[in-house]
Amino acid sequence: METIGDRIQDLAAARPHQTALIDDQGSVSWRELVSLANRIANRLRAEGLREGDTVALLSENRIEAVAVYLATLVAGGCVVPLSGMASGDSLALMVNDCAARFLFVSKKNLPLLDTMTGKLNQLTAAGCISLDTDDDRLSGLNQWLGQTDSEAKPAKVTLDHPFNIIYSSGTTGTPKGILHDYRFRQRQMVRMSRFGLDGNAVNLVSTPLYSNTTLVSVLPTLFNGGTLILMARFDARRFLELAEHHRVTHAMLVPVQYQRILADPGFDRFDLSSFQLKLCTSAPLRADVIREAMARWPGNIREVYGLTEGGISTCLDCAAHPDKWESVGMPTEGAEVRVIDEQGNELPRGETGEIVGRAISMMRGYVNRDDQTREMLWTSPEGQVFYRSGDMGRVDEDGFVYILDRRKDMIISGGFNIYATDLEQVLLSHPAVADAAVIGIPSEQWGETPLGLVVLAPGAKGREQSEAELLAWANSNLGKTQRLAAIEVRRELPRSSIGKVLKRELRAPYWP
Ligand code: ATP
Repeated sequence: METIGDRIQDLAAARPHQTALIDDQGSVSWRELVSLANRIANRLRAEGLREGDTVALLSENRIEAVAVYLATLVAGGCVVPLSGMASGDSLALMVNDCAARFLFVSKKNLPLLDTMTGKLNQLTAAGCISLDTDDDRLSGLNQWLGQTDSEAKPAKVTLDHPFNIIYSSGTTGTPKGILHDYRFRQRQMVRMSRFGLDGNAVNLVSTPLYSNTTLVSVLPTLFNGGTLILMARFDARRFLELAEHHRVTHAMLVPVQYQRILADPGFDRFDLSSFQLKLCTSAPLRADVIREAMARWPGNIREVYGLTEGGISTCLDCAAHPDKWESVGMPTEGAEVRVIDEQGNELPRGETGEIVGRAISMMRGYVNRDDQTREMLWTSPEGQVFYRSGDMGRVDEDGFVYILDRRKDMIISGGFNIYATDLEQVLLSHPAVADAAVIGIPSEQWGETPLGLVVLAPGAKGREQSEAELLAWANSNLGKTQRLAAIEVRRELPRSSIGKVLKRELRAPYWP
């Protein structure tokens, strides 16, 4: 097997001067990137890293973060990219859970490291390396590297070898460490390479490197020797400037980013003709947003549905299926999707239930949580093992998959299942509504009842009037069992770093 660790050595020789990475600070060629990664790998080995050991990374998107990622793989370690949005407590929990021996941290995240002090089991100050400068306690990367050799022999690993652990964002509970092995990543890289993420790809990365959403397109671009442009922070105007300037061909964006980019008043002035493909995943991409993007933004869009855990994978080619933009497409090659009811019985096509799937890439399991790994599985009557998605959805007569809601977000009111997405779509179709989320709140009469939370579009009318007006309008467009109890106007909706609305946070004040 040619691993990414092997592959980058060839790339350094084959395209030494071609740009590999560009970030806010500068750029590196393939030779420079691989030399830095090899030096870090050698140093990690010298410091006692053994194959399979975990190396945590707490950094915004930048050149050194990618180098640490690659270095860990060259040394045969397992990368654990962490989110700078998480609290010190939950980061300490993750570092302890995966037994990280090393932690690379950027300057911006040093205060977070301070809040972890005293809560770490295994990690010592000697294992913490600052990606930037030196401070009193930590070595800076350059100092730590010293005179290390820039040639390295990549570890020989098997397909079962751990590649990375990604902690779930916790939108639905305590973060769980999702372990991916080489089998998972190699297969994914082959599949994603087909979308043109090759040696000529210029991939603009504006989602964080610790998210699987990002890695799905970043790893194949690296494997194939393309160029990555790393944004430390997403900003719609900056995205457009970088895309034009670097003749970007690919980008993986989450739905809220499409909306912000298209809403930029300067959008039409930018030359985006170099775009071949935009990918989208992590949350529903609304049909009206697809329509607008297809009309104004060159290149196709592919919407991908899946879980960090893998096991379920569908893809919608927006250019090929303009009549299916409400769906998330069809299962990808080698993947299968079925729908089951609460008792685990398979449902016929067209009926709504929980989506289960199997695909060529599946996680090894949750770290230290065998019970939860088992809970995710569903066995078909023929004895095949499927993964439970936790999403409610259906499959239409042509095999296209529709996602209605997360099971935990579904509202059960007076015995009826209400899918928030149906109600959100109605709210969003009103011109005064810029953003909307529907949650279930307690109701004496119905058990639960839907509440609409909306962000008004700029220039929309005053708050009191809008709430009452909007409620009447929305309910006249909703089915009898779907009606909203109330609408509240908010300034903004809380979102995760990957742009998902944090419904748990929205619900919390209403539930005792
Ligand atoms: P947690 O499990 O803690 O909530 P997370 O939200 O980060 O963490 P992911 O694996 O990133 O977990 O998210 C998978 C979920 O994202 C899916 O189950 C589904 O609800 C949603 N999702 C992903 N892609 C799409 C899509 N194209 N359309 C609609 N929903 C999607």
